[in-house]
Amino acid sequence: MKFIDLRSDTVTEPTQNMRQAMFTAEVGDDVYGDDPTVKILEKYAAKLACKQAALFVPSGTFGNQLAIFTHCTRGNEVILGDDCHIVIHEVGASSIIAGVQLRTLISNKGELDPTQIGSRIRKENEDIHYPSTGLICVENAHSCGRVIPLSTMEKIYTLAKNHDVPVHLDGARLFNAAAYLDVDASEITKYCDSVMFCLSKGLCAPIGSMLAGDRKFIDKARKKRKVLGGGLRQVGILAAAGLVALREMIPQLKVDHENAILLGEELTKIPGIVVNKEDTHINMVFFNMHGTGLNSDKLVEKFYAKGIKINGEEDGLMRFVTHNWVSKEDIKFVVDSIKEILLIN
Ligand SMILES: *Cc1c(COP(=O)(O)O)cnc(C)c1O
Repeated sequence: MKFIDLRSDTVTEPTQNMRQAMFTAEVGDDVYGDDPTVKILEKYAAKLACKQAALFVPSGTFGNQLAIFTHCTRGNEVILGDDCHIVIHEVGASSIIAGVQLRTLISNKGELDPTQIGSRIRKENEDIHYPSTGLICVENAHSCGRVIPLSTMEKIYTLAKNHDVPVHLDGARLFNAAAYLDVDASEITKYCDSVMFCLSKGLCAPIGSMLAGDRKFIDKARKKRKVLGGGLRQVGILAAAGLVALREMIPQLKVDHENAILLGEELTKIPGIVVNKEDTHINMVFFNMHGTGLNSDKLVEKFYAKGIKINGEEDGLMRFVTHNWVSKEDIKFVVDSIKEILLIN
């Protein structure tokens, strides 16, 4: 059965063009710097992010952790939101790999308050008890589905520069944020020193993320990537798909966003369902269905029988994610299915 899969945009499979590009990719040993396709990808990614250089990494988590590992020294403090991916979904890796302390701030739906950040920045020589702030991390688009305004990013970046602290952007969905804001990605990445963005997820590459920054940072990161076992050999096979992702798939994200809005509007019409409509900035629809009396596990089960994969609720909220492999017709089928299930119940 061909499933409609709304669990995440991580489920996206490579496009035909990607498979073709992978099949014919020119490759070499990238640890020797011999892979021409990787070099093209790294150059192209750096240009999109308007940074001097970029580095292919196996996953988004790898890219974020490598950024922290490269910017910081052991015992540094990293300031970031309490609900960001690095804190919630990266298995505590920053304590294992970089050996840093995470100083979390309560975020307002993913948005950090620059004034609060300012009050948390610490310098080692201020007090014998203090760790020094090694990094500030921001996330845009945020995994709560919202896009952080450029004005906030600018304030945080200016503040960070004044204190000589680098800023890393977790831009797993950077191009979704750019699509929502209707700007080039570089308009966002100009407010950070390093950025990680995923080639997988909405852009459909099977594997891989990019870490971009200035040349000195990327040179250092390349060596640290080797430390972590991320020096890959004929990785042009993957870079070829990544290039197709960046060259062809970015416009698709706007369609995904439109589909998410459509899905949200249709779900809103169902009594008992409350959609966080003002939070639907990208390809994620968050909603509460307690009013329907339908149990989320039950919906997961019934949907599965109809060929729809979804996750159960988390913190009281359901999340449906649109992507390249979810069409408008699929959305109609999903909405009709939920209506049908509710009538039965
Ligand atoms: C998915 C995601 C990551 C990590 O990517 P993986 O490739 O799954 O490791 C990091 N940050 C955010 C905001 C994400 O959504």
